[in-house]
Amino acid sequence: MTDRNQNPESCNGACETCGTDCPSRTGGAPDFRIEPHPRSSIRKMIGIVSGKGGVGKSFVTSALASEMQRRGYRTGVLDADITGPSMGKVFGVTEKAMGDGELMYPAFTKTGIQVVTSNMLLQSDDQPIVWRGPVVAGLIKQFYQEVFWDRVDYMFVDMPPGTGDVPLTAFQSFPLDGIIVVTSPQDLVSMVVEKAINMARMMNIRVLGLVENMSWVECSDCGRKMYVFGESHIEEVAAKFGTEVLARIPLDEKNARASDAGDIEDLEVEPLKKAADLIETL
Ligand code: ADP
Repeated sequence: MTDRNQNPESCNGACETCGTDCPSRTGGAPDFRIEPHPRSSIRKMIGIVSGKGGVGKSFVTSALASEMQRRGYRTGVLDADITGPSMGKVFGVTEKAMGDGELMYPAFTKTGIQVVTSNMLLQSDDQPIVWRGPVVAGLIKQFYQEVFWDRVDYMFVDMPPGTGDVPLTAFQSFPLDGIIVVTSPQDLVSMVVEKAINMARMMNIRVLGLVENMSWVECSDCGRKMYVFGESHIEEVAAKFGTEVLARIPLDEKNARASDAGDIEDLEVEPLKKAADLIETL
């Protein structure tokens, strides 16, 4: 692992006589970012974040990855939600981990997205992951450093939810070019979303914008929009943090069906096109 914070080997601790710009001398924020294996290449890395589970973070991750793959980019998905993995399911990937003794190989989805998820390490998908935090955090890093990521243009990271120790490791370790924060109208009132945004800011990671998922349900008879989770406050939160609303996605049975059947790549989620356009400009 490359540690950018390491002082030079000649360090004798006397900062006043040394000109090296290491964090211990400058007092800057320590940099814990890691690098991929020399055989891998990843051009841009985008984290998909949520305050808590169940708001559709995985749905947005997989739908956005599918959109970028459709646009002709080589796309990867790193499922860093180790204890609640869903990338295998939404992409219909069931194969187990394979490697060459040095690196693990990602699975390929039907349209060719490279995917790594903790389910690939389990004998059966219903096996629970009962690992302690440091083991989970270690695996997150291995998924980046010890996997052969083959010329990936856009890598989407399904980040672990919340702001605890494991998400912190993911935030600190990956050289993220930006994050997208997924919320639902009820989640938005919670402070956890704001904490997640603040955490990214503290680490100088750009917040690309917010996605409000499950914003409304449309009546199939009259077309009326019903705001089942209450009124949206997403514009206010976006304004407060100086970021933008990238999408508002309705709660729609076809979204759940495609995810559950492993057919997410067959689904075009129209509201996410603006987010994909922004990602193309990174
Ligand atoms: P998270 O990753 O935040 O825990 P998921 O993406 O797994 O959440 O979504 C939770 C459940 O809700 C899944 O079954 C998913 O298919 C479903 N779901 C997510 N977004 C939508 C939506 N817009 N419409 C319908 N179902 C959705």
